[in-house]
Amino acid sequence: MKIETSQLPSLLTLQTQLVSLKKLESQARELMARAKAEAIREQLLDLSAKASQMLTDHEELQRDLKRAESDLDLVVKRIDQDQQRLTQATDVKVIAGVQHELETLGKRRSELEDAQLELMERVELSTDSQQQIQAQKQQLQSDLETELEIAKQDLAVVKQEHSAIAAEVNAAKAQIANDLLELFERLATRATAVGVLRGSTCGACNMNLTSTALGQIRAVAEDELARCPECSAILVRE
Ligand SMILES: [Zn+2]
Repeated sequence: MKIETSQLPSLLTLQTQLVSLKKLESQARELMARAKAEAIREQLLDLSAKASQMLTDHEELQRDLKRAESDLDLVVKRIDQDQQRLTQATDVKVIAGVQHELETLGKRRSELEDAQLELMERVELSTDSQQQIQAQKQQLQSDLETELEIAKQDLAVVKQEHSAIAAEVNAAKAQIANDLLELFERLATRATAVGVLRGSTCGACNMNLTSTALGQIRAVAEDELARCPECSAILVRE
């Protein structure tokens, strides 16, 4: 293949630029995945599950409290009625019966009052815990937003760099003869496409070439394309 030797160094630049583009692309992929944001998302999911369990427990506590309160109401009413009956009763047996019932009701009342107090305390604690978990959730949510915002900004920088290099790549390609560019691109899909021949070392595969191979390369005219016999890379002769 006849070549314009001045185009060969451009191939080296092009190769470096293509490597940079690949690096930037993988950076962009990492940024989009953003391990840190993922970790926060998982914590948020955990907290949400906890919060909904807590809400269920809280509602149950409130139902228990209501039940205890209405039981207590009934007992208090019954005590009032019995005391009323006691003031009107004249029969000793009836009085004894009512008094016995009042004693039982009194015990029941104090049990229910204790239960009510305990439940009220538990409802209060549960309300506090729920507020705490909501606050944690909000904090995580805002951490997540911050992380995503940072990732977004980093991604924008990477994209900008990528498009700048991509523009340079296009400009460089336009300066290179079609057949040479086609060969370069084909080689680049498999391995290093171009390397400088330094002494007896191919810059693409870093192999030390034999004197026979070097002789063959030297026999290639200046304006013809020389390739590495080991890795087939395009050789830039110094
Ligand atoms: Zn080579």
